[in-house]
Amino acid sequence: MSSMVEQHSPQLQMLETLKPMFVNKHLPQSILLVGAQPVDLISFAKDCIANFYCISSNGCGTCRQCVMIQEGTHPDLQFVTQESPDKAIKVDQIRDIQQNIYQTPQCTTHRFIVIHRACKMNQAAANALLKVLEEPPKHSLFMLLAEQVHNLPATVMSRCQKYVFKDQVDTAILNHIHLYDKDSSRSKLFGDTTNLLTDLVDLFSGKQNICAMSAKWKDVMLDDLLWGFYLINAQLIHGHYYVSPNQEQSTTEQLEYLSKQLTPMALFTLNDKLCVLRKKLNNSLSVNQLLSIEDLLLDYVKLRLVEGS
Ligand SMILES: [Zn+2]
Repeated sequence: MSSMVEQHSPQLQMLETLKPMFVNKHLPQSILLVGAQPVDLISFAKDCIANFYCISSNGCGTCRQCVMIQEGTHPDLQFVTQESPDKAIKVDQIRDIQQNIYQTPQCTTHRFIVIHRACKMNQAAANALLKVLEEPPKHSLFMLLAEQVHNLPATVMSRCQKYVFKDQVDTAILNHIHLYDKDSSRSKLFGDTTNLLTDLVDLFSGKQNICAMSAKWKDVMLDDLLWGFYLINAQLIHGHYYVSPNQEQSTTEQLEYLSKQLTPMALFTLNDKLCVLRKKLNNSLSVNQLLSIEDLLLDYVKLRLVEGS
């Protein structure tokens, strides 16, 4: 199996796609940027906007416009996000936006409103935003940033031009999990206190049962959890052909243990199932998380080769 490490980072690829629109100031009124970590969506949005505001139209980083963006003092650029990581974006925060967007920009031609973690809006906030996006003043442009979209109402999404950062399919990514922000949902999947791989090994060796394991993972964002399973499967498929010499010893042992019990065919079947679930999430269909995890783990257990058989 050939290496699937991307030659270009997802950020660079996306910037190449979006930059001309920002430089030429031909933008859809609302953009939705979807990127799982390790993409830093805020600094990516700032880079895009710098290309729009920059006096030299290239995000030079040194002109007055670029400096104000970096320092967070640009009067025409407004960032909105949760007040703390466990809180929703509230309707009052969207009402603040509503009040500002009709004012003429102070030192440029357009206002930018960036909503970070847009998927964390509560229902009232999303409804209020929808009203704004339905008839925004021409001089106000919106960027919604989201790590995933399944909590965003379809009505809001339909108002935005959507761009999705590709997942990096690096089968050795378990080695690179430190690239992810420590507090991110994806990083926690393979953290010191929680570890999906260890749990899967424990499930197979009888130290863990399906119900307990499903309950343990039920509060993680489902899309991230599915990504975690996908990653492990990809690494196992890879491991059937090649064992990475740089792998951490304990991880290698766990992967070897699992790959002895899951054939490539079983892993492909499991990945198909993960894809169906992720598709449902991306289409905003409601999914019962606990049942989905239980069902998925049941498939893992059913598809494993029982020793001696
Ligand atoms: Zn500049």
